[in-house]
Amino acid sequence: MKSVLFSRFFILLPWILIVIIMLDVDTRRPAPPLTPRPYFSPYVMGRGGARLPLRRVGPAGRRWVKRNESRPQPQPRPEPPLPTIYAITPTYSRPVQKAELTRLANTFRQVAQLHWILVEDAVARSELVSRFLARAGLPSTHLHVPTPRRYKRPGLPRATEQRNAGLAWLRQRHQHQRAQPGVLFFADDDNTYSLELFQEMRTTRKVSVWPVGLVGGRRYERPLVENGKVVGWYTGWRADRPFAIDMAGFAVSLQVILSNPKAVFKRRGSQPGMQESDFLKQITTVEELEPKANNCTKVLVWHTRTEKVNLANEPKYHLDTVKIEV
Ligand code: UDP
Ligand code: MN
Repeated sequence: MKSVLFSRFFILLPWILIVIIMLDVDTRRPAPPLTPRPYFSPYVMGRGGARLPLRRVGPAGRRWVKRNESRPQPQPRPEPPLPTIYAITPTYSRPVQKAELTRLANTFRQVAQLHWILVEDAVARSELVSRFLARAGLPSTHLHVPTPRRYKRPGLPRATEQRNAGLAWLRQRHQHQRAQPGVLFFADDDNTYSLELFQEMRTTRKVSVWPVGLVGGRRYERPLVENGKVVGWYTGWRADRPFAIDMAGFAVSLQVILSNPKAVFKRRGSQPGMQESDFLKQITTVEELEPKANNCTKVLVWHTRTEKVNLANEPKYHLDTVKIEV
């Protein structure tokens, strides 16, 4: 009897072992792929460029767990809200306007949590810009304010009224609620912006600064940084400016904009090229500035200017059989 039992046991033993091994292998299957995230999803590269750990979906290789059994999944910690980037863009009607706005929208569309405040220098919102924004696929606000005729002269600062209109909208929108995390940036319609720039500015605590390419008669201008602090400016033009920086070279947190409700761009007393300094003086100090772009050693935005188009052969009266928006 004993020997029969023994022989049965030894016949069954390999089978039992096979079943155990198969169960083990099954639960050790490679874990499902990491949560797919697009390259410029909000959290890839995270704040300050640190890559946050990616979360695995589905059960990882835990052993001896019956499939279909419902187990409490570890709850991913909710991510803090991503600060909204508010880009204020003054724009005016000209032959290249739609081309400029198209390039800008193509850039902005790749930036998470961006709100575009487009301010037309016009007495009313134009059909061209309204239609364009409606199809741009971006959260946006469409404002307009005309520049008074007396200020439309060469040598005078441009887009003062439009930037102020953007600021006023931002303050009004946030007047009743506690400030959501946000960052404001002045994005002229003709500059060139790398996507990395938006990652850099997103972590602005008060006012952040970085180099700007192709500006001030030089290949670039930049804040000079020592021990993580701005100590001066590399510039070829009016180095005596308190903040020798282009409009494209800084960002301001929404909190700072709201806690300095009177800070605006001024017409009166403002000399050409001093707009940035006049504005920044009202909200910060040089010591307080946060250098971005690897201590201001990387150019991530270029002050490009679009060549005036040659329309020498444009007919005086409309000749084509169709009317086309350009
Ligand atoms: N702009 C405007 N009205 C004007 C001239 C310019 O709204 O009469 C806008 C323009 O579209 C751009 C910004 O103001 O977004 C700065 O103008 P521009 O690029 O001509 O200045 P610069 O390149 O000399 O800084
Ligand atoms: Mn420009």
